[in-house]
Amino acid sequence: MKIIFATNNEHKLKEVRALLPDFEIISLKDIGCFEDIAETGKTLIENAKIKADFISKNFGLDCFADDTGLEITSLNMHPGVYSARYAGEPSNSEKNMDKVLLEMKSLKNRHAQFKTVIALNIHQKTHLFEGICEGKILSARKGAKGFGYDPIFQPSGFTKSFAEMSMVEKSEISHRGKSINKLVSYLSTLNIE
Ligand code: IMP
Repeated sequence: MKIIFATNNEHKLKEVRALLPDFEIISLKDIGCFEDIAETGKTLIENAKIKADFISKNFGLDCFADDTGLEITSLNMHPGVYSARYAGEPSNSEKNMDKVLLEMKSLKNRHAQFKTVIALNIHQKTHLFEGICEGKILSARKGAKGFGYDPIFQPSGFTKSFAEMSMVEKSEISHRGKSINKLVSYLSTLNIE
């Protein structure tokens, strides 16, 4: 089955394609969409829906979109929906991590979680799937793999940061992996070729 994943983020495409080997995952680039879809929502759900609806409306295709936020307990769940541009525009992961590390410098409670929401538009209906990965914010970067905030996030029960894990290791426990598993369970209940 072919399905559009409303992203041009190569890291996300790689992670999601590895998790969905039975599906042909088409990116925005593959359908000729180079639009920077404005994420103007106030929640992850709103943003995931905005991205999925943009593709359904403009291309008439079934698709899914995700939105992810890093929620840090002692920062009142920030950066949350503002994770991509936490240190301002244009989005820059190094500056975002620097800002988090500085704000967390004297804070004892390091608890945080990644949350992903997927909005799937199929057969004229929207379905939502959520995945959460709990962990803590490290006091400095560790590891060079992955993307975004991976070097400063250590999932609960592990001694490695996300950036020290292989893509497969990360996906087994990650917010995106969990939400994709729910998406796959749902898609496998549908009778589509
Ligand atoms: P997006 O809106 O889903 O693209 O993600 C918002 C922000 O969270 C971006 O700055 C990403 O770098 C970051 N992010 C999303 N997923 C992950 C992840 O799996 N690890 C680390 N950072 C992530």
